[in-house]
Amino acid sequence: MVDGTRVEACRSCGSPALRPFLSLGRVPIANALLTVADLAREEPRYPLEVGFCESCTLVQLLFALPADAIFDEAYPYFSSFSEDLLAHAKAHVEGLLAAGRLGPGRLLVEVASNDGYLLRHALERGVPVLGIEPTPGPAAAARALGIPTLQVFFGRGMAAGVRREHGPADVIVANNVMAHVPDLNGFVAGFRELIADDGLITIENPYLRDLIDHAEFDTIYHEHWCYFSCTAVDALMRRHGLSLNDVEYFPRLHGGTLRWHVSPVEARTPRVLAYLDEERQRGLTAFAAYERFGERVAGIADELRVLLARLHAEGATIAAYGATAKGSTLVNFVGIDQRTLAFVADRNPHKQGHWTPGARVPIVPAEALLERQPDYVLLLAWNFADEILRQQAEYRRRGGRFIVPIPSPVIV
Ligand SMILES: [Zn+2]
Repeated sequence: MVDGTRVEACRSCGSPALRPFLSLGRVPIANALLTVADLAREEPRYPLEVGFCESCTLVQLLFALPADAIFDEAYPYFSSFSEDLLAHAKAHVEGLLAAGRLGPGRLLVEVASNDGYLLRHALERGVPVLGIEPTPGPAAAARALGIPTLQVFFGRGMAAGVRREHGPADVIVANNVMAHVPDLNGFVAGFRELIADDGLITIENPYLRDLIDHAEFDTIYHEHWCYFSCTAVDALMRRHGLSLNDVEYFPRLHGGTLRWHVSPVEARTPRVLAYLDEERQRGLTAFAAYERFGERVAGIADELRVLLARLHAEGATIAAYGATAKGSTLVNFVGIDQRTLAFVADRNPHKQGHWTPGARVPIVPAEALLERQPDYVLLLAWNFADEILRQQAEYRRRGGRFIVPIPSPVIV
């Protein structure tokens, strides 16, 4: 396998003016959980480095991996395993119905529809739906629910084909996918091909401002090619004849998520203009803010390394919760391994029985927290902190403590 190629031009605007501001070292692919057989050999590691485009402000990875290195049959993420995410998706569909955007005869297409976690709610309400999901496991799970699903990558050309066969989409939903797309312009061109002229595209992604403000450096991993601000999204959409018209903010979702509303017809709300203005005022459109962020991240990693070493030296048992991609970035960047972490607990049965990439910590069911009652649990899935602390109330009642690593390590 190749080592990854350095990105020479911005994925959005094509400018060569890319400036690096954070290197997380050479780390394995974050979702590539290991089986027993994998433990016998060295896994591939790739540089993980982030930069800023001086031309269109897009923050992006500076090394490219082939797509097949990331999305393979073993891709273990199934959306439906988070209660909060399911509730959010249901509320989204209900909002679109209430606004008259959806109804019988108004087609909803979801890009990266996963196991049907969102479309199932629309289907129940009689809305015609179509899922587009490249990974076979989740696509099959969606079809089993009766959700028509095309197992392909979304983009230019294929989107025109979908329109010919199914008609234009009245609503396209694309949640937590745009950052994963290597051909960003082809992806957005696909939106324009498929959307009805009076249609609405909603795109959700973690917000770059929050990544910077809360030092969420562990949301940086090989599968996330890009990190979006409103300014960068605005430039990207304009290039394809689309307008960023509105924005909604979900502070508790994935550490701070934006839902961008995009349409072929320009109708900007004061709210979206305020976001664009705020980004300018806070310096998110210039390099200096990112340079400071890089320095801050190095400090947090040092702090966490010292804390865990101290607890370990005092004889405390330490486990982790959440065999997540972000956990993989954090654990490998900070340099934690199975000598420090006894196990990683995770509710997802598809992950249990595997080992985490790089650090090689065994993944076990969540019940292990009560069965083995470690003194401390490093919360790697901090984006679901509310939900996990709720579920693990008994572990905490018996004296167990969680270490929340970000924005700076605290014990709760
Ligand atoms: Zn650019």
